[in-house]
Amino acid sequence: MNRINIALDGPAGAGKSTVARLVASALGFVYVDTGAMYRAVTWKILQLGLRPDDAEEVARATRNMEIRLARSEQGQLVFVDGENVTDYIRSADINRNVSFIAQNREVRRLLVEKQKELAREKGVVMDGRDIGTSVLPDAEVKVFLTASARRRAERRYAEAGTPEQTIEEMEAEISRRDQIDTNREASPLRRADNAILLDTTEMELAEVVEAVLSMCRSYV
Ligand code: C5P
Repeated sequence: MNRINIALDGPAGAGKSTVARLVASALGFVYVDTGAMYRAVTWKILQLGLRPDDAEEVARATRNMEIRLARSEQGQLVFVDGENVTDYIRSADINRNVSFIAQNREVRRLLVEKQKELAREKGVVMDGRDIGTSVLPDAEVKVFLTASARRRAERRYAEAGTPEQTIEEMEAEISRRDQIDTNREASPLRRADNAILLDTTEMELAEVVEAVLSMCRSYV
């Protein structure tokens, strides 16, 4: 089978990670969740008691961090300085702060370098905000997944075992994060010119996965 790279971008809660995981498993490819890397840096910055908007301190601390991804039966694991933080990076506190960390140019430079390295040998499904535009501009398949903010909040709410927030709070938080991600100067959330737009508001998960797989069929 030919190995290709697949870039999946879109706003928070559009279903990227679920779709990416299923597409990767159908093709025998590796799934890379880049949001988890920004979340892991955010976790460490908060642990260190630093202010997420202190660009210089955040950059300095991130240069000294060792971020590592690993595979397990449960999916991708994230380690920061040897500590498995996978279970700590989805909290409301991280959701609130991660977009500030992701605006930091030095954080982006360091993480993008790692992401490019992970995809060097191909056979990767990578999801994020800037994968098709700046991490893997040469990816064979590029998809931009979106859905209404309400639908995205409903999905996030259904996924959270014991939700810390109401659907309305999640919708407000998602819209705020979209706003920051879309308007930041460094690699804003934007559909690559050659990415295929999929609006999943009215689509079932299986239909979305099938649509992405059908884009890959001419290559694999
Ligand atoms: O995908 P997820 O919601 O886990 O991403 C968390 C945050 O990380 C996003 O809101 C965005 O600010 C940032 N991010 C990014 N670039 C990526 C992936 C995530 O800026 N490639």
